[in-house]
Amino acid sequence: MQASRKKQNYIVNAPRRLAHISTMIKTKYWKNKEFQICYKFLMRAKYSIDAKYRASWRQKMRQIMPEKMRAKYVGDPTYRMAHQQKMRARYAGDAKFRATHQQKMLTMKHVKRADHQLQQRTDPVAAFIQHMQEGPIYTCVSCHRHLYRQTVVKLNLSRYKPESRQLLSAMLAVSNSKKDDQLYICRTCQTQPSAMSGCHQRSQARRHAQAAASH
Ligand SMILES: [Zn+2]
Repeated sequence: MQASRKKQNYIVNAPRRLAHISTMIKTKYWKNKEFQICYKFLMRAKYSIDAKYRASWRQKMRQIMPEKMRAKYVGDPTYRMAHQQKMRARYAGDAKFRATHQQKMLTMKHVKRADHQLQQRTDPVAAFIQHMQEGPIYTCVSCHRHLYRQTVVKLNLSRYKPESRQLLSAMLAVSNSKKDDQLYICRTCQTQPSAMSGCHQRSQARRHAQAAASH
């Protein structure tokens, strides 16, 4: 009777006992250098001979490492710079890596766009609020009005007919936008290329009228 109760207690207390042992090992591991070396050696040996342990270890690493490395990348500037340099060198020298990276970026871009479109469709109110909070910070390259995000689209010159493209290029040349700036065009100027110059002229005329009125 006594023995069976002891056994029962032993089973019931197993998780607590294991946690205690684990804490003890961890403490010893960080305090005792010699123990650390022995423990590492033992675990390496186990890793090389025990396939089940190896598989579970790999699984665990796959789960925790990306987050750990990301935290290190964000929090450690030296590591970040070294990593960027390493990646840049690899990108330049390794064609396979470059192709994989480009494919990954393209997929990410598509996923991001799909997410955005889904949000617009499923939660248009949230999208609207977000745009309103941003304010009218998007300038149309053609009519130069400052607009909300939902009334402009990203400018892609290659989509325009040669004459519209030429006009837009001329406007961009005199504006002070940098080469890498993301440029936007309002939906009016975008969908009616013929009205583009009209829209521009209207805004010019408005500006002239305002200037004349202030004199
Ligand atoms: Zn416009």
